[in-house]
Amino acid sequence: MFELTFLGTGASTPSAERGLPALMVSCGGRRVLVDCGEGTQRQSCAPVWDSGGLERVLLTHRHLDHVLGLAGLIATLGLLRTGGPLGIHGGRETLSFVERYLRALWPERSAPLAIGLVAPVRGADALVIEATFLEADAAMAADYGHLTAAQAGRFAAEAGVGMLYLTHLSGRYDSDAVAAEARRYFPNVRIARDFDKLRVPERGRAERPSAAS
Ligand SMILES: [Zn+2]
Repeated sequence: MFELTFLGTGASTPSAERGLPALMVSCGGRRVLVDCGEGTQRQSCAPVWDSGGLERVLLTHRHLDHVLGLAGLIATLGLLRTGGPLGIHGGRETLSFVERYLRALWPERSAPLAIGLVAPVRGADALVIEATFLEADAAMAADYGHLTAAQAGRFAAEAGVGMLYLTHLSGRYDSDAVAAEARRYFPNVRIARDFDKLRVPERGRAERPSAAS
């Protein structure tokens, strides 16, 4: 059993309803943070750094809304002196960018970095993926390197996942329209909201989420 907690489900700019991208994956007392947008360390009833167990941060890509929260999180962990080194995983370009970003803040001692790989998604019980644009704005989505809801739905169908969770949602669209577009290609679609918790049993199908607060 592992648990997903959506800490931030917005795209590019925060709103009253949605923080910048961050998702906590918890399993057996260990935690991995996926993306760390600005303000992530505050986006939780129990703060991200609380109770230890945060060993790794996985960065999906180097856009600022996914990485700017790292510095604040690392500063807090340094003040508290909790736990061991924090492994930061991502693609080569992302890690190179993050290394330069952190070195500007801590020039003498670079933050601990470890390189990891993203596991394949095929046949997964739950897929969490961005749906920043609608198909009507597919050209803009391509320009910015983002997905449309239709592309996310088609990807979920091709990968044969159990449940599709859409996040990184832009304020320009109604979230019902985003879900409806993805559902044209894949039936089990949910829109993630900040503070949603999702329990994924081993070899099972994801349960419906419940808001944590
Ligand atoms: Zn983003």
